[in-house]
Amino acid sequence: MIDLQSDIKFLPGVGPKKAKIINEELQIFVVEDFLYHFPYRYIDRTKYHTVSEINTFLPYIQSKGIIKNMRLIGQGRKQRMVADFTDDTGTMELCWFKGVQWISKNITSGKEYVIFGKATKFGSKVNIVHPEAEEASKHENKLASSLEATYHTSDKAKKGYVNSKTILKITEYIFKNLETKIPETLPAYLIKELKIFSHNEAMRNIHFPKDNLLLKQATYRLKFEELFYIQLSLLKEKKNRKTKFRSYKFELVGNYFNNFFKNNLPFELTGAQKRVLKELRNDFGTGKQSNRLLQGDVGSGKTLVALMSMLIALDNGFQAAMMAPTEILAGQHLETITDFLKGLNINVALLTGSTKTKARRELHEALESGEIHILIGTHALIEDKVKFKNLGLVIIDEQHRFGVAQRSKMWKKNTLPPHIIVMTATPIPRTLAMTVYGDLDVSVIDELPPGRKSVKTYHAYDSQRLRVFKFMKKQIALGRQIYIVYPLIQESENFDYKDLEDGLESISRAFPPPEYSISVVHGRMKPEEKQKSMQLFAKGITKIMIATTVIEVGVNIPNASVMIIESAERFGLSQLHQLRGRVGRGNDQSYCILMTSYKLSADGRKRIQTMVETNDGFKISEADLRLRGPGDIRGTQQSGIPFDLKISNLVQDTEILQYARNVATDILENDPKLTESRHSIFNTRLKKLRRGNKNWSVVS
Ligand code: ADP
Ligand code: MG
Repeated sequence: MIDLQSDIKFLPGVGPKKAKIINEELQIFVVEDFLYHFPYRYIDRTKYHTVSEINTFLPYIQSKGIIKNMRLIGQGRKQRMVADFTDDTGTMELCWFKGVQWISKNITSGKEYVIFGKATKFGSKVNIVHPEAEEASKHENKLASSLEATYHTSDKAKKGYVNSKTILKITEYIFKNLETKIPETLPAYLIKELKIFSHNEAMRNIHFPKDNLLLKQATYRLKFEELFYIQLSLLKEKKNRKTKFRSYKFELVGNYFNNFFKNNLPFELTGAQKRVLKELRNDFGTGKQSNRLLQGDVGSGKTLVALMSMLIALDNGFQAAMMAPTEILAGQHLETITDFLKGLNINVALLTGSTKTKARRELHEALESGEIHILIGTHALIEDKVKFKNLGLVIIDEQHRFGVAQRSKMWKKNTLPPHIIVMTATPIPRTLAMTVYGDLDVSVIDELPPGRKSVKTYHAYDSQRLRVFKFMKKQIALGRQIYIVYPLIQESENFDYKDLEDGLESISRAFPPPEYSISVVHGRMKPEEKQKSMQLFAKGITKIMIATTVIEVGVNIPNASVMIIESAERFGLSQLHQLRGRVGRGNDQSYCILMTSYKLSADGRKRIQTMVETNDGFKISEADLRLRGPGDIRGTQQSGIPFDLKISNLVQDTEILQYARNVATDILENDPKLTESRHSIFNTRLKKLRRGNKNWSVVS
């Protein structure tokens, strides 16, 4: 007797050896796992390619015709069976290297067969090696369904005789013996209300669809179910957290904020900035912890919004902290913020890994006495030794650089957890934000300050370098400054450093002193050296900044208006967008030049093309997601997706996701704790899904 939780090695035709391969290669352990190993493609078993149509680009070939002229060629181990395959349109060869005996016994020359396989190039001809062959009459009699599922396996699995057909057979067996035992996963009332397939119907039709319509309905039900449970889980958590975590109430907007607004704010806030500030103020007034993601494209003015929300914290007697991923960025925030706050009597301090022991001790004291109002820094802020008198708000800039565990440490810096705002300039498509950050509130600054000219982006091949140099000289003559960025791959820092060194040499030759001056920043320099070099560039003393990606995030030097990215094909899309965001910050027309070699992979070319075509961060992150595939998102630091996605696709299934979220929201509104008896099925299912997921604990 088998049952859903039976070990697969007890299935007929599997056994311990195959089971081990299936465990390792496909992560299938118990019978139920097979049901969730969904097909990735369906072959229409009633459609045939004619011989004249066959080419090597088709993913598979299925043809009907006569097999004849079967002949053995060669001797001994090299012996093979070759046959002609003919239909009305032409003739091609079939070839078998293995199982020659079996083939000659089981295939009758002159009979009509349906063959199935992949076409390969053989000299100037196309042939099929090791096709499956079945007598045409038998093939057609047997067809219960015209669509046959194809399943993913691996090369290793195939070598162990676990191919798509094997999986299909096993799945067939499971259905014959178990169908009545596959439990429903949604309440009956909901299935009825939404007019969707039952779990059983969906499972049967996803593996053995009778036609395309049934397949579509089955797919819809299973995608809905998957996305629904993700949303239900995240939204329930969010509700829980809101009721669980009380935080400090900021009741008023006082002098710090108002004085800044009246006297120091150098420009009008954009509409989006105002809206987001209002959202933050609402959060702060509730007495519940605010846990908000603040998204805004590069240059949209997040820092200012962060600063103004910190002033609200100060007005209510709290301290605020701001954490950035690099020392350069933290240093720059200090500078910007100090500048903004001139004359307001607010104490701002910096704490980084390179703060000296003595200064650090003084700083610790000033923090605990409340003398410091705003602390800016790097990971150093997280350390247990860093204690505040009364921390009320934490801003985390470019949060994708921090792990969830690091973020959550900031929660413990006061009796109640402080409010948390995480900011990111790597916009996340809405669908993904809903899923990945389904338990955070999201605010979006979707408007750039007025007067910004969008950066002009060009693609240039290495061979065009001289023209690029000429362009650079022209820009420098106009008083502009230029970044040149080299890739840095963590695995081989030395190698990349060499890239930068070689580049530096050629740039120095083309841009000799005293006419030109160059700053260099890379990961191997000491923080003070980096800082010094940055300073020279920031002050406009040096005209060219040669750097590795250490400058990727946040650096703000408005007079730098040209960004040259070397080996641009080696960067990811969001990185390219971040880098480009370093220019276009002043009033001058800015440029971004993406240098690549002639040899570009298809994906590399697509990335470059996307950058040239658009400046819109949301479009870019969508393209990025499409190129990398949503599978890549899971397992990254920022992932909050609680379960593996088995069938849905976050890029394509936006509508179902939105719908699933609405349904989940409705249900939780009426039954927040899911205590109604008709909802007990939800709890059972959630428990089961979470158990199967190891990363659940890291979701913040
Ligand atoms: P990011 O969102 O990338 O962190 P910043 O906060 O660094 O962007 O802002 C980019 C630049 O825009 C800064 O020089 C900032 O002073 C300026 N800025 C911010 N808000 C406005 C505004 N409302 N009007 C004009 N300039 C603004
Ligand atoms: Mg920023």
